[in-house]
Amino acid sequence: AVEMRGVTKFFGAFQALKSIDLTVEQGERIVVCGPSGSGKSTLIRTLNQLEEIQEGKITVDGIELTAGGENVAKVRRDVGMVFQQFNLFPHLTVLQNCTLAPLKTGRADKATAEATARKYLERVKIPEQADKFPAQLSGGQQQRVAIARALCMEPRIMLFDEPTSALDPEMVKEVLDTMIDLAREGMTMLCVTHEMDFARAVADRVIFMEQGAIIEEGPPAEFFGNPKSERLRNFLGQIS
Ligand code: ATP
Ligand code: MG
Repeated sequence: AVEMRGVTKFFGAFQALKSIDLTVEQGERIVVCGPSGSGKSTLIRTLNQLEEIQEGKITVDGIELTAGGENVAKVRRDVGMVFQQFNLFPHLTVLQNCTLAPLKTGRADKATAEATARKYLERVKIPEQADKFPAQLSGGQQQRVAIARALCMEPRIMLFDEPTSALDPEMVKEVLDTMIDLAREGMTMLCVTHEMDFARAVADRVIFMEQGAIIEEGPPAEFFGNPKSERLRNFLGQIS
């Protein structure tokens, strides 16, 4: 499980996260939504140690990230991340993008890393693109490479930060379908997204953030069917 307790993040004097408490159990699928600037990306980035926190505690499978030390690198490898802007290395082929981290961290030798990469490229349904460069692929294909690349580290949890919001509408579905497959296979997932059909289809819980705090959360039927706070009702009215 991933646990955040009293997590507080400041950028200078500005408080981006206000004492966040959140537990993601192994196998759980959580969707995070909320207005622009509410702290969704910051939340995700603290979990991947891309942002330091000022107060509170984050543990992954009982190992405290905030404590530092050699465990932190290990935990980081257990956390896969997919960004809005795919963040693929443009000068590397699809296959090389997928084998880079496993080779660099000594997780696998070249043959094993390539076999694993091909397995996950198959899983995201683009095995034939292995030798192309990112610029030769569509946005939806690039994002599926990014998902395969994260899976190559065999993470225990996958973090997604608006993975479909930079895509042309006709490519959103192929990426969401890939994410739905992953969810159905039991992957632990924390997804920032406003794709509410995705949330309804796979989320165990949906979380609404505003101004750095979790305002409301619940299973999708309750979250969408019976929102309690007026702020969530307004938000759902705007996005649907
Ligand atoms: P969006 O939906 O637009 O992606 P978000 O909910 O992901 O928004 P964050 O990116 O987490 O929001 O930002 C939360 C707040 O923290 C915003 O007010 C933002 O301006 C501020 N912020 C984020 N990163 C930094 C930074 N590096 N330096 C200063 N302020 C930052
Ligand atoms: Mg964001």
